[in-house]
Amino acid sequence: MTATSPMTATLIDGKAFAASLRTRIGTAVTAMKAQGITPSLTVVLVGEDPASEVYVRSKGRMTREVGMNSFEHRLPADTPQADLLALIDRLNGDPAVNGILVQLPLPSHMDEAAVINAIDPAKDVDGFHILNVGRLATGQKAMVPCTPLGCLMLLRDQLGSLAGKNALVIGRSNIVGKPMAQLLLRDSATVTMAHSRTSNLQDLCRQADIVVAAVGRPHFVQGDWIKLGAVVIDVGINRTDDGLVGDVDFDGAAKFAGAITPVPGGVGPMTIACLLANTLTATARANGLPDPEGLTP
Ligand code: NDP
Repeated sequence: MTATSPMTATLIDGKAFAASLRTRIGTAVTAMKAQGITPSLTVVLVGEDPASEVYVRSKGRMTREVGMNSFEHRLPADTPQADLLALIDRLNGDPAVNGILVQLPLPSHMDEAAVINAIDPAKDVDGFHILNVGRLATGQKAMVPCTPLGCLMLLRDQLGSLAGKNALVIGRSNIVGKPMAQLLLRDSATVTMAHSRTSNLQDLCRQADIVVAAVGRPHFVQGDWIKLGAVVIDVGINRTDDGLVGDVDFDGAAKFAGAITPVPGGVGPMTIACLLANTLTATARANGLPDPEGLTP
């Protein structure tokens, strides 16, 4: 096949993958409960951001669906930071709480890093605590951010080994781009990170066997930037007049990619499934049990 003869990509069904992941997690939760351990996730929401409300509701529902305990703390937008830190301190000390997630963004009077770093790293199921960031970067056992963990699972499912693959991560945020690059590096991919100051993005993209787009711009990555047969993971969630769209021009890219995630129905459902996976992992570790199989990198 030549570069001018387009192919049709396999659709990576993140929704189905996430559903089967949740089924496996549910089975593991049942086994833990038989040993007298009920995993639990506590979500803290400060203020009334409508998007955050939606996320918190679906996190709670899915947590309960897999048989875990779901706790929520809702604080008004003008809550002093000291009060939030005091709540986190209480949750850190509560043995019935296995995972703590503070929904971001926080109101502007709060110092996000200070709040995240107040969470016990062992309960930091978002994997944003500075200790977990450092552990991931140095190859130690960490709690790994949910969205990149979900992307890694989809990539491994498509490709098996990622060793020696040229992987391009577009975006260098702390929650997606940077941890994604760390995970790919850990799997021995050859990783390139691109961002808004990258000058030769199209050329880099044309050499990539794996493209992870986490930019936040609708249809930013063009179809003809994609190497024939590449695996394309679209993290972007952009609300447009045409509904939710990703960072990749899906129709164009699907002609060149070997496999590609849709938006919606690709990476999005994996994020909450991986949050549940992390909660299960945190619970296992807190109880001296081995890490659940296939849920950690
Ligand atoms: P950020 O805004 O924090 O980061 C965006 C990154 O894209 C930055 O590193 C920025 O570069 C880079 N960028 C911006 N413009 C360009 C450009 N022209 N060329 C190359 N790089 C560029 O976003 P997030 O990482 O938080 O999120 C990215 C997307 O993923 C969003 O659409 C978000 O909604 C979505 N998302 C989806 C999740 C899911 O569950 N599916 C979870 C989290 C996020 P620079 O650093 O130089 O500014």
